[in-house]
Amino acid sequence: MKQTIEAFLELVKERNGHEPEFLQAVEEVAETVIPYIVKNDIYYGKNILLRMVEPERLISFRVSWVDDDGEIQVNRGYRVQMNSAIGPYKGGLRFHPTVNASILKFLAFEQVFKNSLTTLPMGGGKGGSDFDPKGKSDNEIMRFCHAFMSELFRYIGPNTDVPAGDIGVGTREIGFLFGKYKKLRNEFTGVLTGKGMSWGGSLIRPEATGYGTVYFAQKMLETKNDIIKGKDVIISGSGNVAQYAAEKVIQLGGKVLTLSDSSGYIYDADGINEEKLAYVMEIKNVKRGRISEYLEKYKNAQYVKGKTPWEIKCDVALPCATQNELHEEDANVLLDNGCICVSEGANMPSTKEAIAAFHKAKILFAPGKASNAGGVATSGLEMTQNSLRFKWSREEVDNKLKDIMSDIHKSCLEYGKDDDGYVDYVRGANIAGFVKVADAMLAQGVV
Ligand code: NDP
Repeated sequence: MKQTIEAFLELVKERNGHEPEFLQAVEEVAETVIPYIVKNDIYYGKNILLRMVEPERLISFRVSWVDDDGEIQVNRGYRVQMNSAIGPYKGGLRFHPTVNASILKFLAFEQVFKNSLTTLPMGGGKGGSDFDPKGKSDNEIMRFCHAFMSELFRYIGPNTDVPAGDIGVGTREIGFLFGKYKKLRNEFTGVLTGKGMSWGGSLIRPEATGYGTVYFAQKMLETKNDIIKGKDVIISGSGNVAQYAAEKVIQLGGKVLTLSDSSGYIYDADGINEEKLAYVMEIKNVKRGRISEYLEKYKNAQYVKGKTPWEIKCDVALPCATQNELHEEDANVLLDNGCICVSEGANMPSTKEAIAAFHKAKILFAPGKASNAGGVATSGLEMTQNSLRFKWSREEVDNKLKDIMSDIHKSCLEYGKDDDGYVDYVRGANIAGFVKVADAMLAQGVV
């Protein structure tokens, strides 16, 4: 088996040798899915995984725009259309200076499995740009988004490819992108999700990824007859996912001790309550400031510059910032400090070695493709509402989100239970996600 996996990875490496994040994501899937393929004749010998690691289409384009000083700026835009076997391509857009083909291919690949897990009919894609929104004026953001969409619009559509937000792309950016698409196509359709509430957005979509990550943690804890209430929780990031993960933990009676950004983390031993979280939202969403500004109002908290929060003692850890932000050393510190549950809000925040440490210690560990799938699931619900020209209430969407997270958890149990009862959620999520896409690909023939 080891040889089969190695031979496959060698082939993928030959073709994508310069794409470390993509190879990392493929390796994690191959190690769990290839043994399943080998045991199941219907999938064996059909090169299904080899087809899945090759994007159906990778589009790269120039984005030129004019900044506030009248200077012409040039960025690179991308859309990776990874797999459309079970529905239109679906996945976010990321605006961050680190964006490149490797990062977007890893995200698009993960998205295929994640979207399949949601049980909704969505294929996988991802896109974005190396544009850095930090420090840009609203007008610059608008001009950039309009320039980006003036090329992207050719490749997307409500039945073809439906992008959403990700790092650096929130409601403001989705608004500018949607406005340009509507102008160019002269049609009002559900071509993007994460829209504002008065123009086609779904209630709960802004909250969905963070809430879903906590619902998933809650489901994992239930398998041990435990709950979030009373738990010390550390969270990384302070963006969309982190903010709403914190909100849900507070609502369920947990104590949120940390939040962070790429400059450092804050530690509030008294707990970040609703009032304090509202202040964080103001700093991050309105003032577009830094998490260190938390101390201007809450002086008892500490700010630790240049570090991640994993050194703070906790019961539950929710990595909600970015990929590869939690390393083996961090995992060992978390374990030494008694952490019993890690639910990933971000995509691939834990390195392979960190995951191995969690598995070895047999704690509850959920990979992002399962635990953060609530965001795209609610995007799927937004697409449904757009098609129906209808709007569900907050409670209806939240209940559907809870049900979807519960179903994803069940799928992980179905394929991830070891003989000793320990649940390997990585294997569970990978195989459950694979089966649905593979079945559709087989049914559709070699295309
Ligand atoms: P935001 O842009 O709203 O927030 C990102 C947060 O992560 C910020 O606090 C940011 O800090 C921090 N961050 C970004 N890059 C780094 C880095 N290199 N090192 C440390 N911190 C960093 O993004 P989201 O909250 O939407 O996304 C966070 C994660 O969740 C990503 O992995 C994304 O792919 C994933 N995700 C998001 C979904 C969504 O619905 N939005 C759905 C599913 C997954 P700073 O301000 O300093 O950059």
